[in-house]
Amino acid sequence: MSFTCEGIILTVRDSGETEQRVTLLTKTYGRITAMSRGAKHIKAKLTPQLQPGNIGFFQCIRRKRADEPLIVGADITRRGSYVARVPEKALCLLNVLQLANDFTIDRVPDDTIYMYTERIITTLARQPAVQIDALIRAYQRELLEQHGFGVSLYRCGQCGRMNKDAGIVAIAIASGIGLCGDCARQHPEPRTLRHVSKHSIDDIVRELLAYHFDIPITTFQFAGLPEFAST
Ligand SMILES: [Zn+2]
Repeated sequence: MSFTCEGIILTVRDSGETEQRVTLLTKTYGRITAMSRGAKHIKAKLTPQLQPGNIGFFQCIRRKRADEPLIVGADITRRGSYVARVPEKALCLLNVLQLANDFTIDRVPDDTIYMYTERIITTLARQPAVQIDALIRAYQRELLEQHGFGVSLYRCGQCGRMNKDAGIVAIAIASGIGLCGDCARQHPEPRTLRHVSKHSIDDIVRELLAYHFDIPITTFQFAGLPEFAST
């Protein structure tokens, strides 16, 4: 039994001597794992195409004795391979793919993540490297917003007063709300980012990502972003 799906390669890892385990973010089935024949396999022919960040159509067959389908054909662009050749961009690509992986659940389709991930990989391939950091941050913010982890700084999440009246001074990271001075003093949550005005949106995004998605701080350094600063 065979099927074809459209997807983005998130990771490729060796599995045993001759096979590779490929994680795909697919449009229809969400995140899935498929196997492919590795470079050492006698029938290997897809290895050069199966690189992280490559996007396209994958032809798979289901095997009797294995849970994961086997990739037997691919019709894909090599945007990921292309981006990976530029050192500054390669790290950003890893960051994007890891975020896409962390934000998705196996076999749950997510149109938004798919669309943004595809779009940012395409943009990474086109834009000069100097604009990439801003792009990555916009992508991170967008993912947080889309998944309900955005923080409104317009009003206090506790008492409801507007920022212009009460002044938002802190963010409760776990509950994802901005807090006015009065509420910040009484708020029980230990993980609170204080002195909001001294932090950039990027600091806030990093705090939220680290808390909600347990994304190791090294990822951000890896992607060439400034070192994580906590209060
Ligand atoms: Zn308040």
